[in-house]
Amino acid sequence: MEVAERNRKIKKVLSRVYSNKNIRVKGGRGTSYGWVYVRVFVKKQHRCDRPNNYCKECEAEKQSHKNKIMKILSNEHLLEEIGVYYDDFNVKHREILLSVELL
Ligand SMILES: [Zn+2]
Repeated sequence: MEVAERNRKIKKVLSRVYSNKNIRVKGGRGTSYGWVYVRVFVKKQHRCDRPNNYCKECEAEKQSHKNKIMKILSNEHLLEEIGVYYDDFNVKHREILLSVELL
């Protein structure tokens, strides 16, 4: 699958859950070609007294969305379309930068 097509599919499958306007998918250029940058915006689900700062619950909420997103990509066989690299500890990573932002 071509990178551009893969990125379009990533946007499409995530749109089913998060709606199109809350998702930004960008492909890396130059030496980061193949990388995919995914930004997802979601409404905060807990009462938060730190509107401009993330609290513990914010962190937990963001992490749970990240897990959910990675699971969707895996189920849709899109994760396997993303390149891999190994860090200094020989741990495998995918060439995806995923950020969840709470509104
Ligand atoms: Zn919070």
